[in-house]
Amino acid sequence: MNTLEISVEEALDAQSAGALLLDIREPVERLSGYPSGSVHAPMSQGFDSWMERLRKDQPLLLYCAAGVRSLHAAAAFRAAGFEAAMSVRGGQYAWQALRLPLETPGSEDPALSERYARHWRLEEVGVEGQRRLLSARVLLVGAGGLGSPIALYLAAAGVGRIRVVDDDRVERSNLQRQIIHREQDVGAKKVRSAVRALSELNPDIEVEAIDARLGADNVDDLIAGCDVVIDGADNFPTRYLVNAACIRAGVPWVYGGVQRFEGQVSVFAPHLNRGVAPCYRCLFAQPPGAGEAPNCAEAGVLGVLPGIVGTLQANEALKLLLGIGTPLIGRLQCFDALAGSFRELRFRADPDCADCGAGTPVAVTDDAVLQCRA
Ligand SMILES: [Zn+2]
Repeated sequence: MNTLEISVEEALDAQSAGALLLDIREPVERLSGYPSGSVHAPMSQGFDSWMERLRKDQPLLLYCAAGVRSLHAAAAFRAAGFEAAMSVRGGQYAWQALRLPLETPGSEDPALSERYARHWRLEEVGVEGQRRLLSARVLLVGAGGLGSPIALYLAAAGVGRIRVVDDDRVERSNLQRQIIHREQDVGAKKVRSAVRALSELNPDIEVEAIDARLGADNVDDLIAGCDVVIDGADNFPTRYLVNAACIRAGVPWVYGGVQRFEGQVSVFAPHLNRGVAPCYRCLFAQPPGAGEAPNCAEAGVLGVLPGIVGTLQANEALKLLLGIGTPLIGRLQCFDALAGSFRELRFRADPDCADCGAGTPVAVTDDAVLQCRA
């Protein structure tokens, strides 16, 4: 009899003989664990793409929580000509009852599944995306007004390794906007205060505190091994250093700037599309002259503004790390806090740019990328 069902023990044997176990449960159900070697194919997404990709004679094991949905799925695969499709009877309940091998997503620590459950519900993030975040390393330049929300949100999101570089001490005048520091931190090194706050928020991540000022002598070492760099320094010399070093290393960086009631955000990744994707110097060829661009201490800044801009930067960083959405490459997002309005300026790579233009060293030498210059 050509039954549609197979027991969990038989399924395990079939799996080792080459059958593909398709776990058709939804992402959040995978949090309770999944059979080793299973492939996630949530039923809500339909099976059309699987039916197109798989060979008709591929032995298939459909797997769900209790074996009901998988029975329907097996019938659907059979109807589509997959004669070796079977439903695993009893699904996860039967699998667990026999203590067959289960893998836990992300980590062996159940607290992790709980902490990131809302990410796992997102199709665009899911277990794999969370793994990417947990294994990522970012460099955050500055633990001040922009750095505070950036660091807090990245830590909360589970970005596994956050390298923070800053050589300042917390001053009372910082507390109006630098929300990672507290009254009792006044006088302490900012990186120490940041490590304390981030570790309290998320003990699973590693925070590397670098008590130094980013300069030409250490910028390459600081960026080494990082997937994304985020600028929270809010000064021009640092940005030009970060820009050139990121081009050398082929690492994208997220820019943010605030002053008075206005903020700006953009993403620079010229290595991804040479000659098309601009860099910071394509946008601002020269730093402003003395007195043309006063810093926050001189011009003042509304306390919430770095919170808004830094949060937008954290959003861009997460998108880059996850490889989702459309990064702000070639786009300068400007926010006017008084008007409550955003506007976007688009800009292109400058072929004569001193940092990324023709004749400058190229970090990525892939032919396909270089062709983009034409
Ligand atoms: Zn450039």
